[in-house]
Amino acid sequence: MLNQNENNNIENKLTNEPNINDENLDLMSKILLEEELMNNILTNQQEARILSGKEVAAAIADDCLTRAIHLQSRGCHPTLAVFRVGERPDDIYYENSIKRHCEQVGVRCQTLTLPATIREEEFASMLTQTSQDSSIHGIFFFSPLPPNLNETYLRSLITPDKDVDCLARATQAELYFGGPTRGFAPCTAAAVMEMLRYYQIPVAGKQVVVLGRSLVVGRPLAMLLLDANATVTIAHSKSENLSQVCWQADIVIAAVGKPRLVQGGWLRPGQVVIDIGANADPENGGKMCGDVDFAAAHSMVEAITPVPGGVGLVTTAILCRHVIEAAERESVNG
Ligand code: NAP
Repeated sequence: MLNQNENNNIENKLTNEPNINDENLDLMSKILLEEELMNNILTNQQEARILSGKEVAAAIADDCLTRAIHLQSRGCHPTLAVFRVGERPDDIYYENSIKRHCEQVGVRCQTLTLPATIREEEFASMLTQTSQDSSIHGIFFFSPLPPNLNETYLRSLITPDKDVDCLARATQAELYFGGPTRGFAPCTAAAVMEMLRYYQIPVAGKQVVVLGRSLVVGRPLAMLLLDANATVTIAHSKSENLSQVCWQADIVIAAVGKPRLVQGGWLRPGQVVIDIGANADPENGGKMCGDVDFAAAHSMVEAITPVPGGVGLVTTAILCRHVIEAAERESVNG
């Protein structure tokens, strides 16, 4: 961040500028601030290595395409069924991203849009039928579902073999046993593990702090890290001394959904930072930001994932990989 002197410099530059009025003062000030910030980042000798999600997603996509072509040559077309209930813009955005990824890697994506008023029995019957349909290899629906639907029950109708995002309690429970399972890990948690693997960041024996304990991200990720022999700390909104907890870790993973909660002062050189947060940026309308103050962290730590362009891209790629894996298992076993 800029210090007081740097801020004063910007103010001086602006007040000495001829032909500047109140209307464009704000805009000019923003542009100069961004330039100054960028200069700071560029001239800093301790820049973090950027762990690009794009690169990891591309590598996964290459692998998926090869495997999908192989499956197709044996008469099996890997297929994902996606159910969307209602018209939430976030769900539609994610659905489009899933469709795009599937198309790129040779996975068929069957989408079904249901009205928010759908009766539970009706949706349940569709899920049961799809679970029994041998031409479908993966099933996914967006959550949260509307409050009139019992989400836990509906998730339980997805057979573990096709539960490609670990939605059902039974599949989630398998994660806690360690070792190979019938189901799949949640895509976001698996995406983080894939990023660490791809960039050869060792986790065995390392102190890893996971900020966030949600059932979809924080907890399952902690289990996967434990399986990989990390020493895991799970922190949450009631944790004390969060800055200290983060500072002591070798790897900091943020999944809290709070824009820039993790500040530069919480971090130190040598750390790896994985930012799962996908938040609307309160300082930059319409843009997205992570749970970590990227500008501050970037000049401090050894490696960091950007937002956007980090874990999110890998998550969708992992979903496609899970569908292909499910199809491979089925074609071997079934
Ligand atoms: P969530 O269900 O709201 O859980 C947030 C977790 O963060 C909770 O455990 C909460 O603690 C903790 N927390 C909240 N405020 C905190 C604070 N001030 N200090 C410490 N911990 C705090 O969210 P989620 O579904 O896990 O998602 C987390 C973030 O990841 C969101 O930004 C979401 O958009 C993003 N996300 C990204 C992807 C992706 O693929 N990139 C996928 C899923 C989610 P308590 O348990 O004590 O309430």
